[in-house]
Amino acid sequence: MKRIYMDHAGTTPVRKEVVEAMLPYFTEKFGNASTVYSYGREARKAVEEAREKVAALIGADPKEVYFTSGGTEADNWALRGIAYANKEKGNHIITTAIEHHAVLHTCEDLEKKGFKVTYLPVDKYGRVRVEDVINAINDKTILISIMHANNEIGTIEPIEEIGQVLKNLDRKIYFHTDAVQTVGKIPVDVNKLNVDLLSISSHKIYGPKGVGALYIKKGTKIQSFMTGGGQEFGKRAGTENVSGIVGFGKAAELIASELEEQQKKLSYLRDKLIKGIMENISDVILNGHPVDRLPHNVNLCFKYIEGESLLLNLDLKGICASSGSACTSGSLEPSHVLLAIGLPHEIAHGSLRLTLGRDNTEEEIDYVVDAIKEIVEKLRQMSPLYNQKK
Ligand code: PLP
Repeated sequence: MKRIYMDHAGTTPVRKEVVEAMLPYFTEKFGNASTVYSYGREARKAVEEAREKVAALIGADPKEVYFTSGGTEADNWALRGIAYANKEKGNHIITTAIEHHAVLHTCEDLEKKGFKVTYLPVDKYGRVRVEDVINAINDKTILISIMHANNEIGTIEPIEEIGQVLKNLDRKIYFHTDAVQTVGKIPVDVNKLNVDLLSISSHKIYGPKGVGALYIKKGTKIQSFMTGGGQEFGKRAGTENVSGIVGFGKAAELIASELEEQQKKLSYLRDKLIKGIMENISDVILNGHPVDRLPHNVNLCFKYIEGESLLLNLDLKGICASSGSACTSGSLEPSHVLLAIGLPHEIAHGSLRLTLGRDNTEEEIDYVVDAIKEIVEKLRQMSPLYNQKK
């Protein structure tokens, strides 16, 4: 059966060029990057070249890029590292209600340790208001963490504007952004955004899983995340994942060279998919910002049906997508993001996220629109709520 992959915000396939770049670092170039003999020097050189490539993708100095085990670790490090290193200055953190759980659960844990966290609301498109961020600042605020774009609904947040305001304050408040979903999709420049910390993940940009990076601006007061050896400039101990880092570097280099072209192609396919669905199916809501959204993100709610049933039926037709619901502790909770934009539970349950990638085609869009139309009609025929409405 034909398979159509439309869950690129979940993960992406590793590119052939990336696998080829990685392979030698498992076998003939297996050295530990911290050793002085030739094997080690070879590995060190590869790690530093990868650091340069990742730094170039976000406009950073390579010395400001610290490799981690992924986006989750980068988020954990940014929040805990800043909180604990600056606790004598204050204990207040500002974030939003729609962050990834890597940020939200870390904030909840910090609250248990005595920190105070403000979770800002968002508007109906999922955007935080710059004035709400400013108004939430008090004299104990040490850190603000706001994602660059939301992973579920694709809304891009006003990071540059917030960064600009924070830059002009008369005291330092660190600014972190989780850019896991934007790096490689839209231009990301740490200086333009005015951020001190920025999280990235390799597997969202056609690199391997289990590797990522945290950008830490020079001069930032932050605790080490892992203690042990002196790797990553003494701030993140542990023998480097050399092959993973090499793959991440290659993926960063490739995506940087085609960013503009991909952004154009993906937005075209995204708009075709949205139009196809909205014109052919009734009672559909587009979630997220209509314009300020990621070029590859489509998130919709289909009234009167469950997102899970839609997903399972799509899977039977070979289509891989995602729904906003997460099945936790036996209860099917709708996504915290969809609830935060004001959707009622019953509508939030009917959500579907389709995220496009470099290999998707126009024909696939047509196939997916037809498939969704057929499945939604079938499920609605079986829905008591839909039949009541009629
Ligand atoms: N932050 C955001 C916005 C994400 O979308 C994800 C992954 O889905 C992460 C963090 C976690 O990244 P990783 O899977 O590399 O741990």
